[in-house]
Amino acid sequence: MSVRTIQNWVGNREHPPAKGAYMDDFGPATGEVIARIPKSDAEDVDAAVTAAQAAMAGSWSQSTPAERADLCEAIADAIESRLDELAELESLDCGKPITTARTVDIPRAVANFRFFAGAVRHDETGCHDMGRSRLNYTLRRPLGVVGLITPWNLPLYLLSWKVAPALACGNAVVAKPSEMTPLTADALGAIVRDIGAPDGVFNLVHGLGPEVGAPLTEHPEVAAISFTGGTATGARVAAAAAPRFKKLSLELGGKNPTIVFDDADLDLAVEGAVRAGFTNTGQVCLCGSRLFVQRGIYDAFVERFTVAVQQLPAGDPSQPQTRVGALISAAHRDKVEGYIALAREEGGTLVAGGGRTAVPAALAGGYYVEPTVVTGLSANARCATEEIFGPVVTVHVFDDEEEVLRLANGVRYGLSASVWTTNLARAHRVSAALDCGMVWVNTWLLRDLRVPFGGMKDSGVGREGGAHSLEFYTEQRNICVTW
Ligand code: NAP
Repeated sequence: MSVRTIQNWVGNREHPPAKGAYMDDFGPATGEVIARIPKSDAEDVDAAVTAAQAAMAGSWSQSTPAERADLCEAIADAIESRLDELAELESLDCGKPITTARTVDIPRAVANFRFFAGAVRHDETGCHDMGRSRLNYTLRRPLGVVGLITPWNLPLYLLSWKVAPALACGNAVVAKPSEMTPLTADALGAIVRDIGAPDGVFNLVHGLGPEVGAPLTEHPEVAAISFTGGTATGARVAAAAAPRFKKLSLELGGKNPTIVFDDADLDLAVEGAVRAGFTNTGQVCLCGSRLFVQRGIYDAFVERFTVAVQQLPAGDPSQPQTRVGALISAAHRDKVEGYIALAREEGGTLVAGGGRTAVPAALAGGYYVEPTVVTGLSANARCATEEIFGPVVTVHVFDDEEEVLRLANGVRYGLSASVWTTNLARAHRVSAALDCGMVWVNTWLLRDLRVPFGGMKDSGVGREGGAHSLEFYTEQRNICVTW
């Protein structure tokens, strides 16, 4: 396979890194180098910010919401017209199953651009009539240059979740994708140029977190940072942004409970718990990696869950039937395997998986771990409380609501949860008592793009989605008039 070299995107042009340094991008399915990418630094960030500032100083600042909505629609159309190609690129770069890329990642990127096009077309701001010829009204103004930092697990999906509202609101963007998954971001750069977007509204700088993400966060001309990634990195980003009074959105890690009560519809709950545990090879911040099952159905549930996990088609991400693909890197595979070893040390029993997935010889260099289920661990064990971010689910028994709420809430994270029950009152009661940003009842990862998305505790600060994104990517100005 030929190894191509990509560049940064600055002012709608492919822009080689100032120092001329490049690094390898590895394909998780084979462990082979699939591309060379810029190893950029602060000088490249500066160039991108300068291009974005020039866009803000030009006609972009006069653009109307309708024109920006049209631009987002044009990007959506272009992504949609290249859906198969982009899905293949995402699967190659991430090791994610091609079917996931084709049915989830790329369609969601299209939906993000269409959604925020609609959102700004239909946006309303406040008007407060004080009476006696005194009136307040509120304007939305773009922030200016915004920095967008994204992780590797859902590359175009999450990048577009930030780029779409940022552009729709009239900002200019400097994006820094994970250096492990740069390829669909690069394709987005070409799309933005090809549809004729104004120069500099979308800029992209590839490279490492400390060398690109940190200078972007610290840059005095960057008004806001929207960051999605791990909690430890989020803390560094927050520490750098706070003294500069930047607007900050932090979408961080999770260790999400799936709670199955003994009155649940077992077929639905087993299918849902498998999906929650192993979608994208367990590499979704929302994955339900701690499974709590009520004592009355514990044995029956674990048996059915284990069989379903063992039957998940795992291996070659390029095969349409594959549900569990490769992990992102050798280092990440080693981390996941370290947790599996720790689960044994902590007294857990592996009832499914635990080893490396058997793959054809051509994929021997890839990063594969079998879908793994661990029982018998304390709910306070490290494996049950720390984010593993791989295909590993720990299963725990509970007796009543009070106990499961204590266990579910007893971690540093608070991103999401799913609750499985046919008791309506219990569903509402438990959902209200869970310490997290999002609860799904009898489903998982059913997304309406209007609702608030985000976490509490160490899972993040702020909300994105719908009006929350418009709020984040704009400054509201109140104007009080008397006459
Ligand atoms: P990560 O290591 O925190 O990296 C996220 C991004 O931050 C990458 O682009 C990274 O660049 C960059 N970065 C690293 N150090 C930085 C610094 N000092 N300043 C600014 N940027 C820096 O996270 P990841 O391993 O890519 O992603 C997995 C994590 O993301 C998991 O914890 C997962 O739960 C979380 N996540 C959360 C959500 C959510 O919505 N809450 C969604 C998806 C994923 P490099 O890649 O070069 O290090």
